[in-house]
Parts: sequence; structure tokens; C-alpha cells
Amino acid sequence: MSWLTIRTNDGLDAISSTDLKDFTFDGQPLRLMDPQRGIRKPRQIDAALSIRTVFSRRRTTTRPYEDEMGDDGLLRYKWRGEDPDIPDNRALREAMNRQLPLIWFFGVEVAMYQPLFPVYLIAEEPQLHQFTVATSDVAELIGSGTNINEQMKRYIQVQSKRRLHQPVFRASVMQAYGTRCTVCALGLGQLLDAAHIIPDHDEAGIPSVRNGLSLCKIHHAAFDTQILGVRPDFFVEIRTDLLLEHDGPMLQYGLQERHGKELMVLPKSASRPDPTLLDVAYQKFRNSA
Ligand SMILES: [Zn+2]
Repeated sequence: MSWLTIRTNDGLDAISSTDLKDFTFDGQPLRLMDPQRGIRKPRQIDAALSIRTVFSRRRTTTRPYEDEMGDDGLLRYKWRGEDPDIPDNRALREAMNRQLPLIWFFGVEVAMYQPLFPVYLIAEEPQLHQFTVATSDVAELIGSGTNINEQMKRYIQVQSKRRLHQPVFRASVMQAYGTRCTVCALGLGQLLDAAHIIPDHDEAGIPSVRNGLSLCKIHHAAFDTQILGVRPDFFVEIRTDLLLEHDGPMLQYGLQERHGKELMVLPKSASRPDPTLLDVAYQKFRNSA
């Protein structure tokens, strides 16, 4: 996990299945992810080391966690097949019983993964052939045996969002836009955010790439505060009063000169921002000007 932290720039970047092969343990190559199966159990240990969810194009248009999300806000991971006693499922159960940390490799593009770690399996639902997955703080909370009330449920949902959904959303958006700001084409990952078109506290603010824009810090803040608007036809507008102001190069090049220009970076059509969602944000921009 320390190795992954470094290789993913502290969780900011996804990692390719090829780069994952660089990992060694005690001088020997050790596979962190199983390229063929979902569950990775190295022969040296009894418990699973990692789980994997393959990339699916369908996730870009729907809620990315549709299959994984339970009513309680916690994510689920399916058994391999339907037999509870095959080695892969036993390895997951072992990790659960011993409360061992796992890595969840979540596919954000073909052969590209956002690793989520550490995650813990905190329960098994045999009739549904799945395990319940949680981040460490949630696992601790539930492990303490406290009854889950409404307030805690809310906390669990916020935590899952921040620790599990947010990194996958960011990685998906960065993949789609080639790690560049869509307004100014800046390509410094540390200065880029995956912005929600409809904010994520809104019901329609789903963490899907179609509700996302890759924006640098300045353009993200400008978008969120209605200084900058993006029309549903992918053209940029700047708040009218700012077009007449004189300031420095940031205002001139970064904002004024972007007015009336098309977005500089647009993903392949399946991952483009949804014009309906853009229109909602654009109307808000128009009304606040
Ligand atoms: Zn920018």
C-alpha cells in the first residue's frame, strides 16, 4: 500500500495493469492484482490481498456504483461464482475474519485502475453471494458493536463518498480528458480537479464522468462560483462585467480570452459532459450574472 501511495502520486493518479507488475516483495516480483480473476490470493498467504472491478463503458452513463451500493451506503463485492467454498471466496472470508486490509482495484478505463486502500470486508451476505466493504474508520465504528442509527448512516455515506467514490470519479475524469483542463489545456495533474457539473450534494450530482469536467484549480473555482459558464454546446462564457475589467495576465489570458471559445479538451463522445446537466449549470450561471 505504501508502494501504491507513491506510484499513484498519493492516490491522485490511476495506475495501469502493466505498471502494477513493477511491484516486488523481498526482491521477488509479486502480483498485486490478478489480471484474469477478480480476487488475488498469493500462494504465500491464506487471505486475499486484493479485489478488482473491471472497467465497464456502461458505468460512464449510469451511476458508477449501481451494482455495488447497498441501502446502507456501503459498497458490496460479489463472490467469485456461486460456491461459497471455492478457494477465492474462502480467501475473502479469511481476510474478513482476521480483519486484514485489502486493496480494491477499480477499473476506470481499459487496463487502468484506481486503487482504493485499505478497505475491509466487514460482513458477508451469503444469500446475495457478496461481502460488505468499508473503509477503516467505518469498519472500526461498526466493529465496536454500536447500533447504527440514522446519524451514523449519514456519516458512513459521507465517508464512502469521500474515500471510495471521489477517487474513482477523479480518475475516470482525468482518463477521459487526458489529465488536462478542458478550458485552458493545463496539464499539471497536481493543479487539476475533477469538477462536478451538478454538485454532488444534489440528487442529480452523480459521480459519473458525464457529470464531470476536468478543470484546473482556477477554472474549477470560477465554474463553481458562476464566474465561468459552459454552454451545452461546449463553449465557454465569462461573466459579463469581468470582460471589461483590467487586471493582470490571469484575468486576461486565463479568463477573458477564453470567452466565446470552445472547450479545448473534449473526451470521446461516450465520456463527454451531458448537455442536459451542462444546461442546468449554465442556466444558474446566466441567472447569477
Ligand atoms: Zn484551466
